[in-house]
Amino acid sequence: MSLVVVGSVAYDGVETPHGRVDRMLGGAATYISLAASYFTKTRVVAVVGDDFAQEDTNLLLEHGVDLEGLERVPGKTFFWAGKYTPDMNDRVTLTTELNVFAEFQPKLPPLYTTAPYLLLGNIQPRLQREVRAQMNGLRLAGGDTMNFWIKDFREELLATIREWDFLLINDAEARMLSGHENLKRAARAILDMGPHTLVIKRGEYGAMLFRNDSMFVVPGYLLEDVFDPTGAGDCFAGGFIGYLAQQGFDLEADHISRGELSRAVIYGSVMGSFCCERFGVERFRTLERSEIDARFEEFRKFTSF
Ligand code: AMP
Repeated sequence: MSLVVVGSVAYDGVETPHGRVDRMLGGAATYISLAASYFTKTRVVAVVGDDFAQEDTNLLLEHGVDLEGLERVPGKTFFWAGKYTPDMNDRVTLTTELNVFAEFQPKLPPLYTTAPYLLLGNIQPRLQREVRAQMNGLRLAGGDTMNFWIKDFREELLATIREWDFLLINDAEARMLSGHENLKRAARAILDMGPHTLVIKRGEYGAMLFRNDSMFVVPGYLLEDVFDPTGAGDCFAGGFIGYLAQQGFDLEADHISRGELSRAVIYGSVMGSFCCERFGVERFRTLERSEIDARFEEFRKFTSF
């Protein structure tokens, strides 16, 4: 059950209270596809420059990620740098150099267009819409967005998410998109915009899933050391959709229970938590599926009463 992931493949510079790395592999599509690769066949659509290193390509290939849709063009790969606050709940963007990403026109190899699952990472809503329009036979499509698109591209964004099954955003974005401070009201308003499933990510505080008839709330996994939260939201998305793809789920179908969607939220939380344990994508060099399932079971224990 293959999954197509669209978004940035980047180099990142990150500073947290635990240290600083000036340049390392990053990008939303990188994190999403690494996380999803533990659950399902994952195919990436993105663009990089001619400075993109073979060892970075190799990490994705070692995870079985299909890179036929990773376009390589002359120029420099997208570069982003950010610095976290001491509690790591917030960050400031220091640099965004779009480079080859500025001209990104997602091109789907023919094999990709029949994939049943689609995750649209945070890119221009018009591009997200164009990609969705190229897909035939989707069972589940959804994605992510950010404050910039909510504020300055609102109409385009609304037209885009109207066609999605699920939307994954953080709490500040949910408030901004809906115009409601109260998250329950915000969720109701967003569910009226199109997606029938909404996940609101709350960083270290966990996540909430809303549908018209149900909700599910999960705390964050308590790590003793958070080294670098970059990509945690994307890894959440990768774990969430990856699990649903692995199970062959179709959110429109009646047989999907709240329990199954809840498990997808837990797998999302598990993948987000692993991501924070090392800088950048480092944790994915050694992470095994058995560790993922063990942490899933831990979640079950500490949330049951
Ligand atoms: P997250 O921490 O889940 O929000 O994701 C961080 C990743 O998003 C980093 O690896 C960045 O390379 C990437 N990123 C940051 N800003 C942008 C942007 N404007 N467009 C696309 N990707 C971005």
